[in-house]
Amino acid sequence: MRTRKNHAFYRDTWAEVNLNAIEQNVTRIKQGLPEGAGFMAVVKANAYGHGAVDVAKTALSAGAACLGVAILDEALALRHAGVEAPILVLGYVRPEDASLAAKYNVTLTVFQHEWIEEAAVQISERTGPVKCHVKVDTGMGRIGLRTDGEWEALASAVEKYSSLFQLEGIYTHFATADEIDDAYVREQHRKFEHFLTAFKKRTGLGNPVVHSANSATALRYREYAHTLVRVGISMYGLVPSEEIAGEITVPLEQAFSLHSRITHVKQLNRGEAVSYGATYRASDEGEWIGTIPIGYADGWIRANASGGEVLINGERAPIVGRICMDQMMIRLPEEVARGTRVTLIGQQGKEVISADEVARRLDTINYEIPCMISYRVPRAIYRDGHLIHLHNEVF
Ligand SMILES: *Cc1c(COP(=O)(O)O)cnc(C)c1O
Repeated sequence: MRTRKNHAFYRDTWAEVNLNAIEQNVTRIKQGLPEGAGFMAVVKANAYGHGAVDVAKTALSAGAACLGVAILDEALALRHAGVEAPILVLGYVRPEDASLAAKYNVTLTVFQHEWIEEAAVQISERTGPVKCHVKVDTGMGRIGLRTDGEWEALASAVEKYSSLFQLEGIYTHFATADEIDDAYVREQHRKFEHFLTAFKKRTGLGNPVVHSANSATALRYREYAHTLVRVGISMYGLVPSEEIAGEITVPLEQAFSLHSRITHVKQLNRGEAVSYGATYRASDEGEWIGTIPIGYADGWIRANASGGEVLINGERAPIVGRICMDQMMIRLPEEVARGTRVTLIGQQGKEVISADEVARRLDTINYEIPCMISYRVPRAIYRDGHLIHLHNEVF
């Protein structure tokens, strides 16, 4: 994360992040958890495109106990921004970087005994021990130990270097918690329980940190909350999948919206073309066409042109012609003034274009939508209706 503060932007395209929505989502999800279960706010990938530092601070003040990120760099960025809460790196960190994690009090995910041997050489008694959570692969098939033998080898390696590694917890990740059928989740849980028993017996830890629940699990399987849930997507106000949307009773509010403004307005004669390939032709005499300064380099990918709509003056307007790198065109219901606001994701009056709608259009999941809006789109961070931060990574 850059340290220079950027308080301005000079283009008419921006994303808005409503911290009140995030605060409310954290509060409401927490209310549904069993007594004593903690909340890890997952803020990897710049908080799913929302802005990691603002989201992390908001979630912590709303009652989150700790943070989850994917890579060490993301953890260090939070530390540099003054965030002191516990941070767990959910992905793999190179053994040679373990000392950096120790220095900045960042908790790592461990699952390979060789990794412990390699990291042990890097960590000195001076940096202090690195905190670790053991990852068990109970069926996700991504990272994690899978057998009793692998657990035994890891536990022995950690014992050998007990002054360098501090085992704090154990966790797993579900592959199908966002699907109606619960058979695979139950099977994964059963395997996790096996390793949890072995972990407690071997380490003698009375109160380890134990976690398995992502958003879908936290919202649907209260019994799997353990000591901590790891919540990402639903903190941002999105349901983990359409399949289980009907089951989610916690009201969630989408925090992310995407806006632009009309830069040019013109009227076309019937048959006149718009954009590369001249694939769109005006079918009516005097069609009004508006230009918007957003394109695929902003993460507004070309596939959005197929059936895509935006909101202008509270009405839907279709995207016409191919989306360019930096600009695209829409068909206007009538002449509008240059500078008129266009909403690509979010609400205008009674009309809403949700991240779910955009995901459906692109044949993907809602997670991808805020993540794919690129660094080039400034993030305007709002709290209580006031702009409190502006992140412009371009200038
Ligand atoms: C990203 C991630 C999460 C958060 O998942 P959501 O579905 O966004 O709640 C939790 N755990 C791990 C290991 C992850 O990688």
